[in-house]
Amino acid sequence: MSEETGGDSGRPLEHLWNLQQVDTRLAAARARRSALDDGSALRAGVEAAARAAAQAVAQLHESQAALRDHELQLATTEAKHKKFEGDLYGGRVSNPKELSSLQEELAALARTRDHLEDRILALFDQVEAAKEAAQSAEASKASLEQRLAAHLAEYEAARARLDAEIEGLAAERTARALLVEPRLLRRYEGIAAQEGGVGIVAIQNGLCGGCHNAVALGFVDRVRDGQIVICERCRRIFYVSAP
Ligand SMILES: [Zn+2]
Repeated sequence: MSEETGGDSGRPLEHLWNLQQVDTRLAAARARRSALDDGSALRAGVEAAARAAAQAVAQLHESQAALRDHELQLATTEAKHKKFEGDLYGGRVSNPKELSSLQEELAALARTRDHLEDRILALFDQVEAAKEAAQSAEASKASLEQRLAAHLAEYEAARARLDAEIEGLAAERTARALLVEPRLLRRYEGIAAQEGGVGIVAIQNGLCGGCHNAVALGFVDRVRDGQIVICERCRRIFYVSAP
């Protein structure tokens, strides 16, 4: 499969070959650019850690509030107990029925006090444990935030570097494309679009540089003669480097 190129003298495919090199580098730079990790996974980790830390702090506040509440209840119970004791032993109450009911009250208050004291001891432990959990959750959050910040700084730098590289290559591409005969350029672009960005391949050691199949005898000479020769297998344009 071949045809005459006409127009450009000497090595008409040289410009197209050079364009392919730029296109390949441009595609690689774009692939690296889109493969950059923008920190989404790390950010999700930070958000989860922040939620866990907020939950741990809320749990601590809840335990502290419960402790304060029980301490208050204990103080009230002790005050009542003291008052009833005064009533019982102060001699102001002499009615046996009233005395017996006071004794029952005192016994009930003593049970409540014992129960509250037990709860308060348990709540002390709970508050201490919640404090530790909250501190550890805050530390995890802070450490993840630091990692995210460091990652984002690296990401931004890499992105800026690649954007500059892509911009430079795109400008070079535009300039090089102008040197290629328009009809040949369109043909190359059509093939490249369908063949993974590669529209022109070198014949090396008798093999197609695209599909690695053996190239028919005589194709190299025809390419050297300035003809456009297409690989019969992968349909790419053949190029032969200068001898
Ligand atoms: Zn091929």
